[in-house]
Amino acid sequence: MRLLRDSLLAIAVCLAFGAAVAQPDQGPSQPQSVDQLIDNILKEKTPKTPAPKEAVVLGVRIGEHPDRTRFVVELSDPVEMRTFTLNNPNRVVIDMPAVRWHLQGPPRPSANGAIKGYRYGLFRPGNSRFVIDLNRPAALSDVLVLPPENGYGYRVVLDLFPTAQAKFDQEAGWPADLKAKEQAADMASLPQSPPLPQTPIKKVIVIDPGHGGVDSGTVGADGTLEKDLVLGVALKLRNALEKRGYTVHMTRDTDEFVDLPQRVRIARSYHADLFISIHADSIHDPDVAGLSIYTLSEKGSDKEAADLARRENNSDKLAGVDLSGENSAVAPILIDLAQRDTMNKSSHFAEIALSDLAQATDILPRQPHRSAAFVVLKAPDVPSALIELGYLSNSGDADRMQKESWRARVAIAIAAAVDRQFMTAAQAGPATARSTQ
Ligand code: ZN
Repeated sequence: MRLLRDSLLAIAVCLAFGAAVAQPDQGPSQPQSVDQLIDNILKEKTPKTPAPKEAVVLGVRIGEHPDRTRFVVELSDPVEMRTFTLNNPNRVVIDMPAVRWHLQGPPRPSANGAIKGYRYGLFRPGNSRFVIDLNRPAALSDVLVLPPENGYGYRVVLDLFPTAQAKFDQEAGWPADLKAKEQAADMASLPQSPPLPQTPIKKVIVIDPGHGGVDSGTVGADGTLEKDLVLGVALKLRNALEKRGYTVHMTRDTDEFVDLPQRVRIARSYHADLFISIHADSIHDPDVAGLSIYTLSEKGSDKEAADLARRENNSDKLAGVDLSGENSAVAPILIDLAQRDTMNKSSHFAEIALSDLAQATDILPRQPHRSAAFVVLKAPDVPSALIELGYLSNSGDADRMQKESWRARVAIAIAAAVDRQFMTAAQAGPATARSTQ
């Protein structure tokens, strides 16, 4: 059972709520005159033949009350709207025909209400959309429409009431008819030539062997250089993935220096479905051993992870790269809400990879999946993980990592994890990484 409501604004008019909403709780100042504002907007473009009139979104207000959070959209004309909810992360979607946006920057909701923020824009030709990001699960009221009054245009009022996550999850999801429409649109965009049966679309994997050239990375007690060790494993991983039918690119396949922002750019330019960075670590405690995997976060999951990210992020500087301008690897990492989906996929891969790698080698006993602000993992649209194969500062790890058989075993375990990542993604349904979803 989904939350799905269609409402024609011109019909559902409720004057009883008029007074409550006419006094906004917060937000931009009230326009002087709606007619005047609309006239001004329409004057910006004066087509010779009148185009079908699009409604203009004039404002949004958020009201935070003890029992509910109220979302009010002000419009020049009534439009048909529908709402539904999506989880992971929790969102409310408001769909409407194509409208023109005339918002003076969104109001900033306080942290107390259900609304964290919202995005808006064209989703598909002819279909505009609000996506409201939630701080916590919410149940939606019916959409209420108020007629123009006191200098305001039409107002659409949606109330969000607290609810349990389980209940929210139960009701969240794309309405079936929309899903069918999306799938039809996806099919229509495929090439006209008849598709070969059972031919999978090749996923693109970018492998990133850490360091290289002037940057040796960490150095083992026996003189092993991190850059050589990780390139050896990366080349084996490339073979294993190519055999499984993936398209594989590498940020480097020889002993050359590539700076960190360039590695991110390479992943993005290939529209990689997954980015795997391979490293080996060294720390002062010679007893610490085992493989670990890192994903992106603004702050480290713990001090060791944050220290490691600092060490790895520092490698450009150590190699003498100009860190001014766009190579600003030292700038703090800010993670956008839109990056959540990518980060979920990254974490999913890290968990799968750890379970496969545990069959192939020793895993760091305590918390083998950690997160920190790694520059090389910050592509907003490419799921990324960094694998630390082990510790060159531990004699057992250092010996193991020298062995060709160990390297092959680890490469195959990573390739198996890549398979599982895309198998589970395929079972989850159509692509979900749309910015306005
Ligand atoms: Zn490294």
